[in-house]
Amino acid sequence: MARIGVIGSGFSGISAAAYLSAAGHEVHVFEKNSTIGGRARQLKTDNGYVFDMGPSWYWMPGVFEKFFQDFGYNVSDFYALKLLDPSFDVVFGEKNTMHVPENFEKLCAMFESIELGSAEKLKLFMQEAEYKYKTGIDNLVYKPGLSLTEFADMELIRGVFRLQVFSSFSKHVRSFFQHPKLIALMEFPVLFLGAMPQDTPALYSLMNYAGLKLGTWYPEGGFGKVVEGMAAVASKHGTVFHLNANVQKIEVEEGEAKSLLVNGVAEHFDGIIAAADYHHVESKLLPVALRNYDEKYWDKKTFAPSCLIYYIGVKKKIDGLQHHTLFFDELLDEHAVEIYKQPQWPAKPLFYVCCPSKSDETVAPAGHENIFLLMPIAPGLEDSEAMREKYFHIMMDRLEKQTGETIRDYMDYKKSYCVADFITDYNSYKGNAYGLANTLMQTAILKPKIKNKAVSNLFYTGQLTVPGPGVPPSIISGKIAAEQLSKHLNAIAHEIAI
Ligand SMILES: Cc1cc2nc3c(=O)[nH]c(=O)nc-3n(C[C@H](O)[C@H](O)[C@H](O)COP(=O)(O)OP(=O)(O)OC[C@H]3O[C@@H](n4cnc5c(N)ncnc54)[C@H](O)[C@@H]3O)c2cc1C
Repeated sequence: MARIGVIGSGFSGISAAAYLSAAGHEVHVFEKNSTIGGRARQLKTDNGYVFDMGPSWYWMPGVFEKFFQDFGYNVSDFYALKLLDPSFDVVFGEKNTMHVPENFEKLCAMFESIELGSAEKLKLFMQEAEYKYKTGIDNLVYKPGLSLTEFADMELIRGVFRLQVFSSFSKHVRSFFQHPKLIALMEFPVLFLGAMPQDTPALYSLMNYAGLKLGTWYPEGGFGKVVEGMAAVASKHGTVFHLNANVQKIEVEEGEAKSLLVNGVAEHFDGIIAAADYHHVESKLLPVALRNYDEKYWDKKTFAPSCLIYYIGVKKKIDGLQHHTLFFDELLDEHAVEIYKQPQWPAKPLFYVCCPSKSDETVAPAGHENIFLLMPIAPGLEDSEAMREKYFHIMMDRLEKQTGETIRDYMDYKKSYCVADFITDYNSYKGNAYGLANTLMQTAILKPKIKNKAVSNLFYTGQLTVPGPGVPPSIISGKIAAEQLSKHLNAIAHEIAI
């Protein structure tokens, strides 16, 4: 049995800890903040609101189920899931809202009503997307991405053209649909993955399958319940979580990590999982000679957006607002350029509103609404209180107009969160929210490597390495890193035995 230190308690850290402790190791998770969950922490206010601070879209339910089943449980042992219908609303302008139905036949009918012939095209599009999703989940995402040979099995080689790794998502969507509303609906998930649709491989239409075919779910009580459930699994197997535990240094001797310096005290370990932001671990916890990448490397990478968020409590109910609403009433391409090509605060932003109190009475006091506003922005932007407030009113003007309700006069909680908070709270590089963008040049073996080249028992996990950003990929990433470290520890134990 080895003693393992995990830096960070986001989804990837908890996942890695669960697998390693179930394998019989003694696992300690060190989290600098006072609660676990990382970007998926919850904010609980004194006046009764429970805000999910980060993720709100529960897509790919099978990945969560697989995690719990790996330990002999089901998701339902820890939290209840609700299928949302409509899945979400998209606001294109005044009295111009698309309610995206959960049911696929109804979705086809909606497509047909917008563009003649598009229902059949949607079915074809989804058949391809389903192939990519299933191949992705079965053959791609659980690979460590250390070498091209991992991808050399016949199923993948036969399918390489169908996977459309080398063609653009933007062109792919336009070869099926012409109507701007349908294009916007199909392109929104890849913007979510953090890249211009032109720069994203068509492979990622698998996200349309995940979002529009497999359903948008909601874990009752919020994403915090998912964090709690996964942490309970890890704890049952003996993982110990240490809160307010800031890791300051990884001590290395002769190519092996020996200990972590935590709040000034050295803790000895046989293996390390670095589940904090990759760039932070390399640039702050390791000396230059032991880093996989230098500053120039990170500077050249395309990062997924940061965002401006507002958590708002409202002391009345707001009719006409769904659980998820995307405000696409401005031009998507213009905002995307301001995020990715010419980083600046957007002139006419798109934004997203989440109102989980529509589906869950535990997240706000009775008769109140819990509202989360999110506007994607380029990472690294100058972030000031005045700027945050300016965009608060831009978003609120549009939300109030859309719902026909005065909201600002009824607020009994308001908190902003932006670039500077991501840096302070998570040691996030340039305040990025979702890690690295899923561009072709940053996919699979081209992502930052899960293994440290100079320190044999140090493995990275999380949204900056394989397989990528998002909660399901982070859970998978933890499993991959745990397997790699276990393999390494077993090989050493074998060497010692012979
Ligand atoms: C606003 C927002 C909305 C999102 N929406 C969605 C969504 O709807 N659906 C979805 O699937 N995904 C969404 N995501 C993405 C998803 O939340 C992340 O990809 C995922 O949670 C990342 O997990 P992680 O383990 O890689 O990192 P993190 O959650 O960031 O965990 C890293 C942890 O390491 C800790 N740490 C850092 N440095 C140290 C140190 N020196 N010592 C000790 N601890 C340290 C941090 O405090 C943090 O807790 C969203 C993200 C954000 C920010």
